[in-house]
Amino acid sequence: MKKVLTLALALCLGMLVSVSSAAASGKIRVLVMDNLPGVTLDFPPEFNVKGLSGIGETEPDGHGGVRMTLSGNNCPVGGLRINTDGVVINAEKYALTGVIEIKKNPGGLFRIINELGLEDYTRAVVGEEMGADWPLEALKAQAVLARTYAMYRKQNRCGRSTGFEKDYDLCATVKSQMFDGDAVEKEGPALAARETRGEILTYDGAPIEAVYHSTCGGRTEDAYDVWGRKYPYLVSIKCRYCADSPYRRWKKQIKISVLYSSLRRAGYMIDGLKAIQVLERSRSKRIKTLRIIGDSGSVAMKGTDFRKAVGYSEIPSTAFEAHKDGDSFVFIGKGSGHGVGLCQYGARGMALAGKNYREILRYYYPGTTLTKLSEEPK
Ligand SMILES: [Zn+2]
Repeated sequence: MKKVLTLALALCLGMLVSVSSAAASGKIRVLVMDNLPGVTLDFPPEFNVKGLSGIGETEPDGHGGVRMTLSGNNCPVGGLRINTDGVVINAEKYALTGVIEIKKNPGGLFRIINELGLEDYTRAVVGEEMGADWPLEALKAQAVLARTYAMYRKQNRCGRSTGFEKDYDLCATVKSQMFDGDAVEKEGPALAARETRGEILTYDGAPIEAVYHSTCGGRTEDAYDVWGRKYPYLVSIKCRYCADSPYRRWKKQIKISVLYSSLRRAGYMIDGLKAIQVLERSRSKRIKTLRIIGDSGSVAMKGTDFRKAVGYSEIPSTAFEAHKDGDSFVFIGKGSGHGVGLCQYGARGMALAGKNYREILRYYYPGTTLTKLSEEPK
């Protein structure tokens, strides 16, 4: 793929370099919700809904505003594009500004897309991904990553096909980055976004795939051991800074009947569940492969697939030991998330230890460059 960013100067991380590219500016398109049978929009009194007359079913919301319900055929074939003009409009559970697009696929299901500026998006993600009261340097590291990830996705679009064209850059969920609309401005995240305005991390002149996670538990994971793909900047590193995380160590007890039905629902046709045997661990002690032993047979699977089948919140990471205890299995583990890239609690620990965001980013993404988009998106 052609790299749309060109580095004016190539300097090591910690020194800002300038990137010139028209493509660097522009809006971020976030898939907020998908495949809805209908959409409810709440317009406050200060928003002029005259331009939307004849669309949907409308009723007063009891507070001087208007509630509009779109369903069936009461939405124009081409969908709706609403410029909020800075007014906060609620679309389902999301409070949105910028431009809201409502689209309908050939099957009659709706999609909500929010189009907003890169800086507005960055501020909103930082507020969702980290505590607003976290140290500023950790929030600034998160702001650079939120912006970088958005730029990466903008240039490397992915998504599943649901009868819609792939007309967005990111999802609003943990699949991309948490996004809950940018209406509620939080002081720390807003300051972090402002103080790092336009800054992204690059490798070889292009935005990096800036993945991150909650807590590594002592050592981050090499991307290769999770996704089977090598990245020069997503390698396993020792992290001494996340000891304060509530996920540093964890213990979960799950009933065998629950585990059994979760595994079968995920397509692992075992009969009974006698033992969980670890076959291979990565350098960071996360489980690469394990074997589920049933009453008359066994099935091997990746640690990440086991976690996905049982539930990401049930099994916070693949760095665990498991043993049977009566009618349950007890899982004792460390860390939360896939373990690749920045450890958020580690970034917090580094900031509390007096490190700045450049040092934090250099630590978790070795060999990358902090780069400034010369045409800062509006
Ligand atoms: Zn850590």
